[in-house]
Amino acid sequence: MNAYLTSVIEGVRTHHADEPEFVQAVEEVLTTLEPVIDQHPEYEMVDLLNRMVEPERTFTFRVCWMADDGTWHTNTGWRCQFNGAIGPYKGGLRFQKDVNLSVMKFLGFEQTFKNALTGLPIGGGKGGADFDPTGKSDSEIMRFCQSYMQALYRYIGPDVDIPAGDMGVGAREIGYLFGEYRRLKGCFENGVLTGKGFSYGGSRIRPEATGYGAVYYLQNVLAHEGEDIQGKTIACAGFGNVTWGICKKATELGAKVVTLSGPDGYIYDPDGVATPEKVDYITVMRASGRNLVKDYADRFGVEFHPGEKPWGVKADIMMPSAMQNDVHLEHAKQIVANGVKYYIEVANMPTTSDALSYLQEQPGIIVAPCKAVNAGGVATSALEMAQNSERLVWTAEEVDQQLHQIMNTIYQMSVDAAERYGLGYNLVAGANIAGFQRVADAMMAQGVF
Ligand code: GLU
Repeated sequence: MNAYLTSVIEGVRTHHADEPEFVQAVEEVLTTLEPVIDQHPEYEMVDLLNRMVEPERTFTFRVCWMADDGTWHTNTGWRCQFNGAIGPYKGGLRFQKDVNLSVMKFLGFEQTFKNALTGLPIGGGKGGADFDPTGKSDSEIMRFCQSYMQALYRYIGPDVDIPAGDMGVGAREIGYLFGEYRRLKGCFENGVLTGKGFSYGGSRIRPEATGYGAVYYLQNVLAHEGEDIQGKTIACAGFGNVTWGICKKATELGAKVVTLSGPDGYIYDPDGVATPEKVDYITVMRASGRNLVKDYADRFGVEFHPGEKPWGVKADIMMPSAMQNDVHLEHAKQIVANGVKYYIEVANMPTTSDALSYLQEQPGIIVAPCKAVNAGGVATSALEMAQNSERLVWTAEEVDQQLHQIMNTIYQMSVDAAERYGLGYNLVAGANIAGFQRVADAMMAQGVF
């Protein structure tokens, strides 16, 4: 392996041994960049890679909030502004009880490459808090969001950093966060957050965008194999916004999502989450704050598998769309044994390193990487920013058309990048190389700092 690349990876392993998710994300990206680094010795002269694996800045702050019973609670909040070379920092906020700095940094690092892949002018950032929204009342959520924004507002802005949603942060939370920002700043500032409600500057299609984008990307992969999405079965995970968007678009195109999962297990619906009532029920489950997928099984009388993950089911396409490290080596082996041909990552880093290596070694399965597949969400956020700054509103058709085009371009850029470096049809390396190249060009042009 290239000596410079090896030394950077070794450095990250040594100095960030207490940040396993971050180390995993860095290793997975850097190891695919070898042919690029070989051909660009100038990068080592300016230590480009060590600069790229160090966030430009990270904020940690205290968030205190009052529960409905009058007791006070304290959480930790973060915002990691990873790389702003190609535009203001952009990325979601994750509210989940077990997040930590390692998770923030892995997500910020991934976001930088993902955002670069969209071709739009957005840098990479991520944030969140170790707050558990499960079972919290609406007023508790509002008070938490207001307190969170009181700490965050001085570090963000429409030309600085534009946060959005992620796990535990949906349209409701964005509304409370934006309301507090507006109250503190006394101005609208082009909406500053994305994922807003349509009544105050949100974009049409943003809620659906990550899921729709993932399906558009999938269609490109299927077309490459001479296949069509019509009639295909898909195993998904989670029951958040992303999975909801996949269900909607897959149904529209004649495919069936047959599994959903939650912290309590997974459901198997052989008829598919494929009627308006079933698709809508995903939003009902989400809004209930219970975080239990068993509710779907109870409502529609389908199988529920407590404590299990859906990766052993027989389906044409696997789309892990819940969270990081959800698919382990034993699942990967089962997926291969089941003869699955398409493994389409959707959540950020949903596959453990050993499982991903194993899947990539199998000749019969195509692996598509999350940072390309899920980039439609943040791309549509950039379209929301464009509408806000132009004080325009685009129709759903206009946004959807642009989203579709962006996903096709991301796919093609990835295919081309891998081929240019002699790697063949390699969607994982291609996405990393295409994203890296854009950030690298911008950093090289802006001098060393
Ligand atoms: N959290 C989402 C992502 O990972 C959305 C980010 C955004 O829209 O800024 O891309």
